[in-house]
This record gives sequence, C-alpha cells and structure tokens, in this order.
Amino acid sequence: MNSRSDILNEIEILKKKKNAIILAHFYQTGDIQDIADFVGDSLALSQKAASNDADIILFAGVKFMAETAKILAPEKKVLLPDMNAGCSLADSCKPEDFEKFIDANPGRTVVSYVNTSAEIKAMSDIICTSSNAIQIVESLPPDEKIIFAPDRNLGNYVLNKTGRDIVIWNGTCHVHEEFSLEAIIKLKAEYPDAKIIVHPECEMPVRMVADFIGSTSSLLSYTKSDASNVYIVATEAGIIHQMKKANPDKIYLPAPPKDSTCGCSECSFMKLITIEKIYFCLKNEKPEIYLDKEVILKAGKPIMRMMKISKKLGL
Ligand code: SF4
Repeated sequence: MNSRSDILNEIEILKKKKNAIILAHFYQTGDIQDIADFVGDSLALSQKAASNDADIILFAGVKFMAETAKILAPEKKVLLPDMNAGCSLADSCKPEDFEKFIDANPGRTVVSYVNTSAEIKAMSDIICTSSNAIQIVESLPPDEKIIFAPDRNLGNYVLNKTGRDIVIWNGTCHVHEEFSLEAIIKLKAEYPDAKIIVHPECEMPVRMVADFIGSTSSLLSYTKSDASNVYIVATEAGIIHQMKKANPDKIYLPAPPKDSTCGCSECSFMKLITIEKIYFCLKNEKPEIYLDKEVILKAGKPIMRMMKISKKLGL
C-alpha cells in the first residue's frame, strides 16, 4: 500500500469483510469524519452504538466514548485506534475522589456527564450529554438535590437554567476552558455581523457574550438554519468541517484561545486518531476496549435511563 487512496480503499474492504462500522465524533479531523459510517456528538453516537448490526465498532473518538459503546453493545468488539486518546475532563474525576465527594454530599442524585470513565458512570444515577443535560435535570422531581459531575462550566450552565439545588464537581475541559473572552470580543469587532456560538462547557464570561449556546450538534443545526453568514465558533474546531459541508459559502472563525500559540481550539486527545491508525486497528482488531462485566452492568443502567428520557422527549 503506497498511497492514501490505497489506505482508504483498504479500510472500506476491511469494514465489509469484518462487518465493521466506524463511528466518528464531530471533533475528529475532516478526513476521518468523511470515511465514517456515522458522525455525531456523544448522544447521537451512543444511540448509534446501541442500535446497529455490525460485529465490530471502531470508535474514532476518545476512550470514554468507546467505553460507552462497549457498555451499550457488550456483545460487540469495540476498537479504539489509540488507547492514549483520553480526555482531560474525564481524567479530572477519579473514582476514589468521586466516592468521597458523593459521601460528603449524601442524599443527592448523581447526574454525570457522558464525559466520564465507565467507573464513574457505574457510580451515577443518571447520565447526560450536553445535548440533553437541562432536560435530564428537569426530568427529576423539583425538590431532588443533585450532584453534577464532572464539568463545572456545564454544571453551572445547567444550574442557572434550571434553578435546581446542584453541587458541582470542579472539572474542566482543556479546550473549552481556554477560549479568550478578550480575543473573541476583538474578533467580533473585526466581524461585527458575526454570531458568537458557544458550547456550554465554556466559561461563563464567554457564554455571556454568546448569541447562541448549545451542544456541538445544536451549534451545527443553528448554523444550518440561521440566516447569518459569519460565525465565531467557541467549541472544538473539528465541527467546522460539518458546518462547511452544510453551508460552504458561510464563514466560520474558530474562537481564539487565551494562548494564541497553543492551537488549543483543537482537542489533543481527539487528534491522536489518524487514518493510518484506523487502518491498522481494523486490520489487527486491536486495541480493543475491555470492561469488567459488573462495571458494564452498573454503568449501563444510568446510560439507559438517559436514553429512555431522551427518546421520550424526542432528543
Ligand atoms: S474536547 Fe475536552 S471534553 Fe472533549 S474529549 Fe477533548 S478534552 Fe475531553
């Protein structure tokens, strides 16, 4: 195999031969999104993982996503092309520390964001994604006291929107935390007609200047239906690939990070996945995700609870 097109052809052949599908997150590079069978955000990918006929799921994303696929489809082989594709947010919430946090806040329902390890999910009552976090919290009785983990910015956003009694774990995402309010305002001065669209994992000052706040898939839908032509996009820059595909004539400006030299609007974990790694992973059927049976059972319950509510609400 010499050329890139040889690798892409070989991936297609392997997929058919092995009855495999590639699920890719919106934060993957454009070339990976283009070879995937399904591209989406965490909620859509979980729904897809739970309902497909493949024998093998190759997850082009990060480890907690591949684990979620394994929990939802334990009979399938779930592959992750690079086991170092972690998540700074998920890593900020270790099971031993989280157990102490739950013990220190007794009697609270534990709502965990999907960006957590399988062990944290197993300690939770219900899971949410950024697409359904508000609705999941609102589905609980109004007087129910809540722990929200692990993203403090999303937790704070949900608290403000719902007015519920919520204590929040102090975790952040290294991409969404890094956007600079000052640089966004400067960019807006250069493009006065631009709409600022923001993921709820961003800090409150950035959320406060937003024209629209939503999950990655909501931001994509917004740019499709909105009449504006320029957007300042405050989330991982990979989503711009889908925005451009949907409306190539519009302009999408990645929101600048605090450190202009760091390239922080790209997730370093997501970008560990490459076409070459996908090829070798499919060929060798490894690295594979393995989870303890008990963890799968325990973590599956709060995920299924979320999926039932999401289905009921048409999310
Ligand atoms: S963008 Fe942030 S939350 Fe998403 S995988 Fe990367 S580090 Fe984790």
